[in-house]
Amino acid sequence: MRTRDSINRFVIENSDVRGLLVHLDNTWLSARTRMDYPAVVETVLGEAFAATVLMSASIKYEGKLTLQVRGTGPVNLLVVQVTRDGTARGLAKWESVPDDVSLDAVFGADARMVISVEADAMGHPHQGIVELSGNTLSDALKNYFLNSEQLLSEFYLEVSDKTVAGMLLQRLPGEQQDSDDWERATQLARTVSRDELLDLDASTLLYRLFNQGGVRLFDGTAVAFECSCSRERTTGVIQGLGQTEAEQILSEQGSISITCEFCAEEYRYDAVDIAGLFNKGVTAGQSDTRH
Ligand SMILES: [Zn+2]
Repeated sequence: MRTRDSINRFVIENSDVRGLLVHLDNTWLSARTRMDYPAVVETVLGEAFAATVLMSASIKYEGKLTLQVRGTGPVNLLVVQVTRDGTARGLAKWESVPDDVSLDAVFGADARMVISVEADAMGHPHQGIVELSGNTLSDALKNYFLNSEQLLSEFYLEVSDKTVAGMLLQRLPGEQQDSDDWERATQLARTVSRDELLDLDASTLLYRLFNQGGVRLFDGTAVAFECSCSRERTTGVIQGLGQTEAEQILSEQGSISITCEFCAEEYRYDAVDIAGLFNKGVTAGQSDTRH
């Protein structure tokens, strides 16, 4: 099967309903194989990947959009970040395996969801902090859009070990809103089966669901798993600790390992790496170390 890592816009003809459809194959494979996720945690992470890419395409912004959930339940952190350029990264951290995929069971009763937009250039970062209301991530995001943007939205998310798929319907803001259009579109969308959403390509799926009223599909844009972390940056962090502290950790743990907070990539340094790293630093910075 060819891989589809793309997001497609569509509009339902003669209505004020617009939509987005996302399929992540390779992106999801990269994300889910970074850690040995229990099935329930993996499902929630997959939903978050699909939902964050959908959100990212539905709002106007430059830079990065981050969805983060923190709670005191079995899963204490879930983070997915998407850039305007179509890169996505993210992970979940868990202390125990949740009983089921309901938000309460996964994150605990008092969990908070933060949706933030970090601008590349000038401009203030925008942040929305909301309680996780509803039983699923789809519900929580629907409530978020209604409360913060006054937008009617419906998310449809499915996760398998090969693909995550998501569809977002939104009613365009405007004066002349036809609630019949919205009712009709969401009713049709609700008939989508798990297999249809996961397996069908965008045009087949949309034709099957919305052909009655006519649907127009736009060209897709690509999404890929990519993280801005690197060994070089991590080396900078260790150099920032200073030689004494680095050697202290080394003597306690045998090696120094730093795990990326966004993609779970692990960077490990043994005694030889650390020695090399600080020797270089001393030679290069010799004139600066004299006082
Ligand atoms: Zn990373």
